[in-house]
Amino acid sequence: MNLDPCPPAQAERVLEGESLRAGAAVAAPGYGNKLARSDYGAPSLPQWCVWVQPADGMEADRWERRWLQGVNAALDSWAKFLPVVRVEDPRRAHVRVERRRPPLRQLAGGWRASNGRSLLQVLEVKRADRALLEPRVTVLVSPELRASSLRATALHELGHAFGLWGHSDNPADAMAPVQGASPVLEPSADDRLTLEWIRRQPTGFGRPLPPRPQADDA
Ligand SMILES: [Zn+2]
Repeated sequence: MNLDPCPPAQAERVLEGESLRAGAAVAAPGYGNKLARSDYGAPSLPQWCVWVQPADGMEADRWERRWLQGVNAALDSWAKFLPVVRVEDPRRAHVRVERRRPPLRQLAGGWRASNGRSLLQVLEVKRADRALLEPRVTVLVSPELRASSLRATALHELGHAFGLWGHSDNPADAMAPVQGASPVLEPSADDRLTLEWIRRQPTGFGRPLPPRPQADDA
């Protein structure tokens, strides 16, 4: 029996071309019907191993300290509602939080900067001699933010990482796409209901890789 909750990856293979698509329009609590999912089901795990980029030097400078405080506070907020294990080695992690400004995104109207971004990959990863299907999320949180928006950004992006791949229309929710006048620093009741729901949905993640699903979209 393996007692290490987050064994390091011994080998890994990225499943190219796996992406999220809109979920079925089902009745779901909160904003669950807005969440995207992968062909393998909800990108959700019973327990998440999370790595947060440490300070560059032996001692964190002022900016690194502020960033770490914001990210750790956001992680603590989610950890009240789902099992999170922090790891010091990124090879043990499903979610990697990096201190860097997301690249500009080109939209129809020009280039847009954002405070944070989450990128999902689907992998087959071998840990403790078992190969399992896993989501890997790289979370970028810009260091150049005021304390409250840094924490709200980290909360929002970690919400994506833990399976909330969609946005709420309600500005009081952590998963609203734009922060209102007062940044949301804790998951709302609807955020929590939606998270509980997605965690109950069928998923192939955290299990041996099933035979390749039939793609039903071009
Ligand atoms: Zn978002």
